[in-house]
Amino acid sequence: MRLKSRGISTPALLAVIIAIAAIAWLVLKPSNAPMEPALSPETAPVTPAKSGSKGMVDEARIAKMDTDEPGAWLSYGRGYKEQRFSPLTDVNRESVTQLGIGWVKELNTIHPVEATPIIVDGVMYITAPYNHTYALNAATGEEIWHYDPKVPPETARDACCGVISRGLALYKGKAYIATLDGRLIALDAANGEKIWEIDTLISKDRQYTITGAPRAAGGKIYIGNGGAEYGVRGYVTAFDAETGEKIWRFYTVPGNPAEPFEHPEMEMAAKTWKGGAWWEIGGGGTVWNSIVYDPDFNTVYIGVGNGTPWTRENRSPGGGDNLFLSSIVALDADTGEMKWYYQTTPGDNWDFTAVQDIMLADMEVDGKQRKVLMQAPKNGFFYVIDRSNGELLRAHPYATVTWATHVDMETGRPVENTDKAYLDKPEWILPGPRGAHNWHAMSFDPSKGLVYFGSHDIPFLYDMSEEHQNTGLFKRRKGLWNTGVNFARSNQMFEEQFAADSEELPTSYSTGFLNAFNPITGENVWSIEHSTGWNGGVMASGGGLVFQGDAQGFFSAYNSDTGERLWQQQLYTSIVAPPVSYEVDGTQYVAILTGHEGFDPFGNDAGHLYGSIGRVVVFKLGGETVLLPAPERDMTIPEQPPMIASAEDLDRGDVLYHDVCQFCHGAAVRAGGGIPDLRLMSKESHEAFFGIVIGGLKKDTGMASFADVLTAEDATKIHQYIISRANLDREAEKLVEEEEDDESSEG
Ligand code: CA
Repeated sequence: MRLKSRGISTPALLAVIIAIAAIAWLVLKPSNAPMEPALSPETAPVTPAKSGSKGMVDEARIAKMDTDEPGAWLSYGRGYKEQRFSPLTDVNRESVTQLGIGWVKELNTIHPVEATPIIVDGVMYITAPYNHTYALNAATGEEIWHYDPKVPPETARDACCGVISRGLALYKGKAYIATLDGRLIALDAANGEKIWEIDTLISKDRQYTITGAPRAAGGKIYIGNGGAEYGVRGYVTAFDAETGEKIWRFYTVPGNPAEPFEHPEMEMAAKTWKGGAWWEIGGGGTVWNSIVYDPDFNTVYIGVGNGTPWTRENRSPGGGDNLFLSSIVALDADTGEMKWYYQTTPGDNWDFTAVQDIMLADMEVDGKQRKVLMQAPKNGFFYVIDRSNGELLRAHPYATVTWATHVDMETGRPVENTDKAYLDKPEWILPGPRGAHNWHAMSFDPSKGLVYFGSHDIPFLYDMSEEHQNTGLFKRRKGLWNTGVNFARSNQMFEEQFAADSEELPTSYSTGFLNAFNPITGENVWSIEHSTGWNGGVMASGGGLVFQGDAQGFFSAYNSDTGERLWQQQLYTSIVAPPVSYEVDGTQYVAILTGHEGFDPFGNDAGHLYGSIGRVVVFKLGGETVLLPAPERDMTIPEQPPMIASAEDLDRGDVLYHDVCQFCHGAAVRAGGGIPDLRLMSKESHEAFFGIVIGGLKKDTGMASFADVLTAEDATKIHQYIISRANLDREAEKLVEEEEDDESSEG
């Protein structure tokens, strides 16, 4: 059902459709649990290279990259500064119109693809969903080796947001991958053979996952993890790059205060948590994305995530800042000792992580040359911080912000908007839990002093769970999200507000932008609006271009001075990953990985239209490879089994669905591109519903049993709710078709 593309004029129908659509975007996270395995057959190495002769990346080589090898992309953010700026100039404002596809590599996955490729000595290294790792000939796409770490498919249930991998690290002849199930693995970069493997997790009982890219420097590999929604305690660990031996570990939130502090910073942090039993819930503060090494100060900066639960009343009812949630923390790279910290959102109450990419730069601020770091975390403020001492230099808003009025530059603290406190009544707030900017990569052009990045306005109706209003009652629920926010009631309230045409409703539910942002003045030199939020990462280049893929499937190049779009190609699936550029034998290439879950609530983005298609697509001037249009998915909702539930049971099914199922299968039962849309279930799937949900029939595809959190009666109510939602959308579809028939007979 493609709602937006059909002519709609009946107000009642429009109301139904908008209600459904707007509910759909309320889902907080990209859909995730897979229903099909990400199969990629083991392939024998094409040319077994001599062990140790490839991937010889080290600190000295990265330091000289811009002068010695501008055509390389040696680490996650290209170099240690993680500016993601390619100095290459062959593809430029004049030549870009000749850009065409040089080669394509199919990744054979329906899952979100978010990784940054690394290119060293003509070899491209990438990670794909379930941590399938590839070395490819960067000029031809020919596979050199493929490594499958055999992540158990049911691990998908532990992952809040998909079986994602954002990348890997190359260091001194080894490729380091960190798997969804928490392992750090060193591979021989030449042939993909495993050298060592260690478990990075402190508990198998808690749902930790790793989606971020490890970083390598100073003889060590640095890695964190995710899982805050499920109730875990965040930490970062440094391991010896040669042996995998643990060197240091920094916890981001305090543990049980009755036990000894693991390190002095925990004693300091514990004073900022008051009341409650956060250590039983976990506390959160996961470091699931940004870990940046700074050779200037031998420091590692980590971006720390949100609290568990999101609501501070449930987490720390006595108040307090809850260190080090939503903070940037500077650690000594050799010892893990803290040098300084800056907390972006003290006492986080909104899922405002500060895990977003951190980039380093040297720039003049107020007449003084500074070594700075920059970050645009979820909370909507863009921070410029002196990395020598943590001094806050700038904190301009980069998107619409309603939770706070501004950041007080004297205290360095945001000033919360008391009108938007949602303790006593629900409030629409910007940004929402998706953030005004998320993990999607930014790029900095040092010659212009501009940061290019995507932002979005995606509001959310925050509402405390009724059962959690009494703060003493919050108990961690194993195997489910622990937010303190009531999703089902938020959805229902939206419908009520919509029916009443309430003034509370936001004017837009998902708007996306690409910005050329001046971090010093806080102004956009230019900004363009996309048709929806949640678009891809960004790369600027020496050719005066900014590249970005979007949710509509377009990969585009813009003039970096004006924002004028100079080139665009449709890739037939949504894009969230960041582009990279590199050179092999004198030819410049631009590469992007494609595929994600689809986000447009109107079901009209490329992920919905064509599904999620995992690929590496590599462009060059004069490239002539043709990408055939993907067939559009058949979204016709079939006839449904009979309804047998009472109204009361349907209401309960609604609550259970939005508490348990929606994070993968979509709010209001409208899924994105990769995950099955349950309104489209076949007769066989309906018949097997209990076997799948309770019996775990499809656990090998990632859809593990939910018998630990749902009873058979619960499953019946959810099933009936799905059927009722499918029937509603089926009726809407029919009305649209009748409307079209009427219009064509009139015209
Ligand atoms: Ca989160």
